[in-house]
Amino acid sequence: MTDERVMMLLESLGHQELEGMIITRPENRRYLTGFSGSAGVFLILKGKGHLFVDSRYIEQAQEECPLLEVILVESVDFGTSAQIVDLIRDTRVGALGFEADHLTFDQHRVLSEKLPFVTLKPMHQLVEDHRRIKNPDEIARIREAAVITDRAYGRIRPCLRPGARERDVCTEIQYQLRKEGSEGESFDTIVVSGARSSLIHGQSSHKEIHAGDTVLMDFGAVFQGYHADMTRTVVMEKASSKQREVFTLLLKAQEAALSLIQPGVTCEEVDTAAREVLKEGGYGDYFTHGIGHGVGLAIHEAPRLKKGIAIPLVSGMVVTVEPGIYIPGEWGCRIEDLVLVTDQGCEVLSHSPKEMEV
Ligand code: ZN
Ligand code: ZN
Repeated sequence: MTDERVMMLLESLGHQELEGMIITRPENRRYLTGFSGSAGVFLILKGKGHLFVDSRYIEQAQEECPLLEVILVESVDFGTSAQIVDLIRDTRVGALGFEADHLTFDQHRVLSEKLPFVTLKPMHQLVEDHRRIKNPDEIARIREAAVITDRAYGRIRPCLRPGARERDVCTEIQYQLRKEGSEGESFDTIVVSGARSSLIHGQSSHKEIHAGDTVLMDFGAVFQGYHADMTRTVVMEKASSKQREVFTLLLKAQEAALSLIQPGVTCEEVDTAAREVLKEGGYGDYFTHGIGHGVGLAIHEAPRLKKGIAIPLVSGMVVTVEPGIYIPGEWGCRIEDLVLVTDQGCEVLSHSPKEMEV
């Protein structure tokens, strides 16, 4: 599985005239090696991969990466452990790539000081670009994460009643995610209600949920490293005609985006499709973020579905479709589904009911 990925990366490195690359971003390290620990350095030098871990992870790494050379180091920090730097020097690489948006300033300084004869080249999204398209194994894991997310949502209904606090609902979602088999939360679960529901990424508070409040819940499970992401908005007890009107428009906007998704359509076009519907309905100004994002080993990854991203969708991409309408100081709503791009179009992986529930 991972050999194929390393081969793909080697090919990319060849195009960049690089003899190696140092991988520090956890998701990329996991993608290339299969190692799921939280600390480690993956080094590719002249076509050969080396995984450096400290004593906390040595047993796990050897088990997870049987085909890889796993090297025990005192610390995976290049500043305190000489082994990583020594190997780069001894292999006599001329040009080494690094992840420009992950290697820290200090790490870069140490490498430049200790390896004056090596040209360090910043690489942007090199591994991330490969991660955009998922293989069947990755799709199966994301599908399971989505199933767990749906099951958890199905179990929180009793908790959604007037007088409940946002924090209570949030805790219940977290508990049910775990109970249904999630490794954790994809991100900090969002539960915001009433006037607070216009906070796009608000934190749940001690606010009580009252009749007439919209309740926006955004959360997701993690299964074998892969994430799910879903948002549902409900109205507590009685919905106003404006809430109904806005909600219908939002569903229509999401449907416009979903029906467009198929290989070859660009990310931007999907965003525009939903935006146009909201604009026509008079709520264009209240949709202030992109329509979606890729999901995989990271909760937010390439491709971004927003204005200016001309990347065409490809079968095997997993993205969210999440239009929202946020009226500051009043209320907000968002519907978010996880979607797999297929040869024929797309498959929605989120199955929780999304029609306005009261
Ligand atoms: Zn979300
Ligand atoms: Zn999302």
